[in-house]
Amino acid sequence: MADVLTYVLHYEGAFNKNSLGAVSEGAARAKDVGGECHAVVVGGDDLTDDLCKTLGQYGATKVYRAKGPEGLAQPVIDVMATVIDEGGHGYALFGGGLLGFEIGAGLAARKQAGVTMEVTAVRAEDGKLVAERPILQDSKISVSHYRGDLGIIIGRINAFEIHQDGGGDAEVVDVNVEYSPWSNQAKMVQRGEQRGADVDIEGADILVAGGRGLGKAEGFELAENLAKAFGGNAAVAATRAVVDAGWYPYAAQIGQTGKTVSPKLYLAAGISGAIQHKVGMQSSENIIAINKDANAPIFEFSDLGIVGDLNKIMPKLTEAIKAKKGG
Ligand SMILES: Cc1cc2nc3c(=O)[nH]c(=O)nc-3n(C[C@H](O)[C@H](O)[C@H](O)COP(=O)(O)OP(=O)(O)OC[C@H]3O[C@@H](n4cnc5c(N)ncnc54)[C@H](O)[C@@H]3O)c2cc1C
Repeated sequence: MADVLTYVLHYEGAFNKNSLGAVSEGAARAKDVGGECHAVVVGGDDLTDDLCKTLGQYGATKVYRAKGPEGLAQPVIDVMATVIDEGGHGYALFGGGLLGFEIGAGLAARKQAGVTMEVTAVRAEDGKLVAERPILQDSKISVSHYRGDLGIIIGRINAFEIHQDGGGDAEVVDVNVEYSPWSNQAKMVQRGEQRGADVDIEGADILVAGGRGLGKAEGFELAENLAKAFGGNAAVAATRAVVDAGWYPYAAQIGQTGKTVSPKLYLAAGISGAIQHKVGMQSSENIIAINKDANAPIFEFSDLGIVGDLNKIMPKLTEAIKAKKGG
């Protein structure tokens, strides 16, 4: 029997979707090994009893609530380490994302525990949890077994689906934690939505989608400028590779683990055309691809392919569209 501990991030009265996926997955897998799923929340007075209890709907039986700064990794590591020391949890599970990676890695160091990152599936084997992680450009699956008292599992962002299993209220337990001196060294200055998070890519008529070929987060300016030049109902979308790299918000991800779209025009810039991306955009009315590699798979299902450097082509295309529109 082993209990699973998860961390749940909260912002302005709502729990983060990625965290709720972790609770759902933690609850399902804890059951598989005869345990329960518990959640840790860290924050201020807005983490009310009523809000914390709702985590029961996703399968958490207990919520450990600590007063502290929300959204910073080190204080959460202090809280989770304290709860695990007292509760003897067998696994800590996170939903991925930068904060999940940071907390999971810090907790692994603190507790000398084994950690697996980028996990896409968790299952029980001989009464223990094992984690599956795609490797070698996702062509193979590596399976992690845990030897110590604690195993740490960090999912790919949104790899774990949210399930509301109709559970009742979770029990809320307040914990007093003495924070490490270094945990008070950082302060949250501002929190907010990521750039582009509010864009409705599913409803857009024109999508300018960017991939790793854009080179860096700032490269998305090329896609944003082009979408702006199209005007109207045009928006920017992204591949999973760039979302995972933190270049663009998850809300804009197209594909198997992202959104499915069928705009009138899908312009793919610097996207290779992996099958997991294709399934999310193949029903677009017109597909144009810009890629410097003439053999890129995206050209196999594009209506128009442009072989060349997007850094040269996109600004020219943007100017041409502006000129055509008389602006
Ligand atoms: C379980 C699972 C689920 C997944 N779900 C998704 C999903 O939902 N969505 C998704 O997108 N992916 C998903 N993936 C990942 C997918 O397999 C690919 O790794 C990903 O789509 C690749 O993204 P990319 O095309 O941006 O990067 P890359 O494959 O690295 O391609 C970059 C492309 O840019 C081109 N390029 C580079 N520089 C330039 C330049 N200057 N000008 C023009 N072209 C240039 C290159 O030739 C290359 O073709 C999933 C994978 C797994 C295993």
